Amino acid sequence: MSTTDNYVDEVYQEVLRRDPDQTEFHQAVYEVLQSLKPLLRLEPQYADVLNRIVEPERAIVFRVPWADDDNAIRVNRGFRVQFNGAIGPYKGGLRFHESVTLSIMKFLAFEQIFKNSLSIGGGKGGSDFDPKGRSEGEVMRFCQSFMTELSHHIGANTDIPAGDIGVGGREIGYLFGQFRRLKKTYEAGVLTGKALSYGGSEIRPEATGYGCAYFAQEMLEHHGDSLKDKRVLISGAGNVAQFCVEKVNQLGGKCVTMSDSGGYIYDENGIDAEKLAFVMDLKNNQRGRIYEYAERYKGAKYYKDERPWNVPADFAFPCATQNEIDGEDAKHLVANGVRGVCEGANMPSTPDAIAIYHQNEVLFGPAKAANAGGVATSALEMSQNSLRMSWSRDDVDQRLRHIMVDIFNNAAKAAERVGSPGNLAVGANIAGFLKVADAMLAQGVV
Ligand code: NDP
Repeated sequence: MSTTDNYVDEVYQEVLRRDPDQTEFHQAVYEVLQSLKPLLRLEPQYADVLNRIVEPERAIVFRVPWADDDNAIRVNRGFRVQFNGAIGPYKGGLRFHESVTLSIMKFLAFEQIFKNSLSIGGGKGGSDFDPKGRSEGEVMRFCQSFMTELSHHIGANTDIPAGDIGVGGREIGYLFGQFRRLKKTYEAGVLTGKALSYGGSEIRPEATGYGCAYFAQEMLEHHGDSLKDKRVLISGAGNVAQFCVEKVNQLGGKCVTMSDSGGYIYDENGIDAEKLAFVMDLKNNQRGRIYEYAERYKGAKYYKDERPWNVPADFAFPCATQNEIDGEDAKHLVANGVRGVCEGANMPSTPDAIAIYHQNEVLFGPAKAANAGGVATSALEMSQNSLRMSWSRDDVDQRLRHIMVDIFNNAAKAAERVGSPGNLAVGANIAGFLKVADAMLAQGVV
């Protein structure tokens, strides 16, 4: 084992020692550090940044008190992790979900460093508040209380949050309103994912899902194939999943599953545009559950408390949450003929699942590359805000398409540089790391 390999292992041991309970964070760090080993053997000067890049520049934890509809006082915990600002202001979404912990925030913010490495820094935030089942008034009061503290730490040139699980257009609106009220200034660039009426960008809501489908198409084209006529499994029924279904349909594929935390639906006839409109209304307006799809469309079946990975298909897009495909699920995917997996969600595949993809030559689009269309289009929203311009839908969609092709090519090239051609997971980590590490080396020990 080389000296740099030993050093990488020491850095990882220190991460474990410092925060022994942060298992999701450990998983994210381990995956990146392992993939950097071949690079560090070739270019050992980069080892100098390792023990800094795994430690957040700042992690803010705060109390979020609010009153529910019965006037009972509730308290949630709020977080903002400003992980790395070497190449630009921190940027990353806010997640509102009961499972949110500091470990989840740190894993997401850490991943964001490498995903954002085109031009911005890495951060993430959120709360263990779950908007599901809460009234409009409760969601608004929670968002206002959350922003009252968060506003001390963000700004268009400092840290720019966006949406993630449980934070969509409605929540961004309430957060922006409270920020504007507190600061007495119209700083459009402080949040992305805004509605068009107050500074949002065309295609931002669609961007992560569309971008993920574009990335899959690019992977397949490099193997002389495409999404046309492919049977596709999608998990989730939220922002990313909805627009992934829409773009896969437009590219000629047939999506046969969607899910939420209650279970999944399987529609052998495909989730076409009309059925997708039903899902969008169900989830975004009625705030209903995915089983209602199977009540509405008689050909569809609902599987309670199950995930869709044992349905025969050609391609899979996990678009719900972390660790939603484990080793057993991956074996089912392979046995049922899945040719590729492209990650819309962050870290949806466990390390065991990824090993099984590689052993079976499943094409693998890792989250840091495949779902980067969201943050890339957020950067386009920020550009439009500072130029005080708005670009057309077609214009932004074209830019997104080109960005996804560039991300694919950069990851493919970086994988070749370290002797792992075709391994886009290694490539995406190395491409992102090099950009950030060069900036850290240039800026001295800060
Ligand atoms: P949404 O809240 O819009 O949708 C999340 C979906 O995933 C819902 O259907 C939800 O079901 C389901 N889900 C959430 N947690 C679980 C769980 N523990 N088990 C099973 N299902 C679950 O979030 P997004 O679509 O925005 O985000 C989905 C994923 O994509 C996340 O991993 C996020 O980090 C990632 N991502 C999002 C980006 C964005 O631009 N929004 C950008 C890049 C990545 P239910 O309603 O029952 O909770």
